[in-house]
Amino acid sequence: MSTTLTNLLNFDLPGLVAYCQSLGEKPFRATQLFRWIHQRGATDFAQMTDLAKSLREKLATQACIEGLKILTQQESRDGTIKWLFDVGDGNAVEAVFIPEDDRGTLCVSSQAGCAVGCRFCSTGHQGFSRNLTTGEIIAQLWFAEHFLRRHLNTSERVITNVVMMGMGEPLQNYAALVPALRTMLDDHGYGLSRRRVTVSTSGVVPMMQRLSQDCPVALAVSLHAPNDGLRDHLVPLNRKYPLDELLQACEAYLEFAPRDFVTFEYCMLDGVNDQPEHAQQLIDLVRRYGKGKAWCKFNLIPFNPFPQSGLLRSGSAAVQRFAQLLNDAGIVTTVRKTRGDDIDAACGQLAGDVKDRTRAAERMAKQRTISVYRAR
Ligand code: SF4
Repeated sequence: MSTTLTNLLNFDLPGLVAYCQSLGEKPFRATQLFRWIHQRGATDFAQMTDLAKSLREKLATQACIEGLKILTQQESRDGTIKWLFDVGDGNAVEAVFIPEDDRGTLCVSSQAGCAVGCRFCSTGHQGFSRNLTTGEIIAQLWFAEHFLRRHLNTSERVITNVVMMGMGEPLQNYAALVPALRTMLDDHGYGLSRRRVTVSTSGVVPMMQRLSQDCPVALAVSLHAPNDGLRDHLVPLNRKYPLDELLQACEAYLEFAPRDFVTFEYCMLDGVNDQPEHAQQLIDLVRRYGKGKAWCKFNLIPFNPFPQSGLLRSGSAAVQRFAQLLNDAGIVTTVRKTRGDDIDAACGQLAGDVKDRTRAAERMAKQRTISVYRAR
């Protein structure tokens, strides 16, 4: 993105109002501009014919609407589309569009790499480079929405749901995340309801509390283990925010959430976390919270093996048995369909190249031999 001009994708509506005021313009001008950018996908101020010519000229010399450079676009046989975006300095991030009968979901990245280092995640193995800016987060939606409208030859909204489940831990990039979420929700922006925007976190407890106050969208939590011993290995952030703290934070979030449940993501790893005793531990765990109500759902995710992980995908019989045990205990549990397998777009494979600044790959290679608990 340009360093000399102000990129207007970085602003939510209040931010754009403040920017327009700094140019001596009234707030309603910012609303017009915001609609041109996000609802119409405009990049050229000259197109914005309902803005005064003097403002258009001012903007042309001081501002820009600049998206991300696309490195690749891959379309799967099932309609899933994956884009790899260049975010400079050798770093790339990915966004994935997943069409379904009744919705179109965009999976968006929040960081170049990720510092959490989950064992089953190829992004985690690449390490962390940097946070994305608000403009870089929203540019993924801005580009995808307007590309898809052109591609499908429609003026209707194509992306109906956004999940912050791409590269990165969104709650470790909070300052940039919140204005991006507000732009997604804004009626002058993308007009998505809070139920249709999901932040997925590995459990950054203090930021979950802040999100519940600042912008309470739907919440998904990457659980992946039923006890602290195993979760410490699979999701290292657990050492800082163990399960009891995390589940209490989930319970507290529900008071503000747009849905009456939290979704737990659970990546099924052969012999590691997929045994009946793990299901029973999960049932016992979630029953300790929620004041006797059904308050969570589980989404079981087939693991996408990659060589450095040293982990294997659970067999489908083990997954079905696990889902059955949870469902029989009254916990609504679904098994995620794998999408975009032929273009490596499935969960945990969102791995553009990043320049690791944390030596995560080295650290994880050392840990690999001790991380796998075989329960049988
Ligand atoms: S699963 Fe999410 S939080 Fe964990 S390493 Fe991957 S991107 Fe980071």
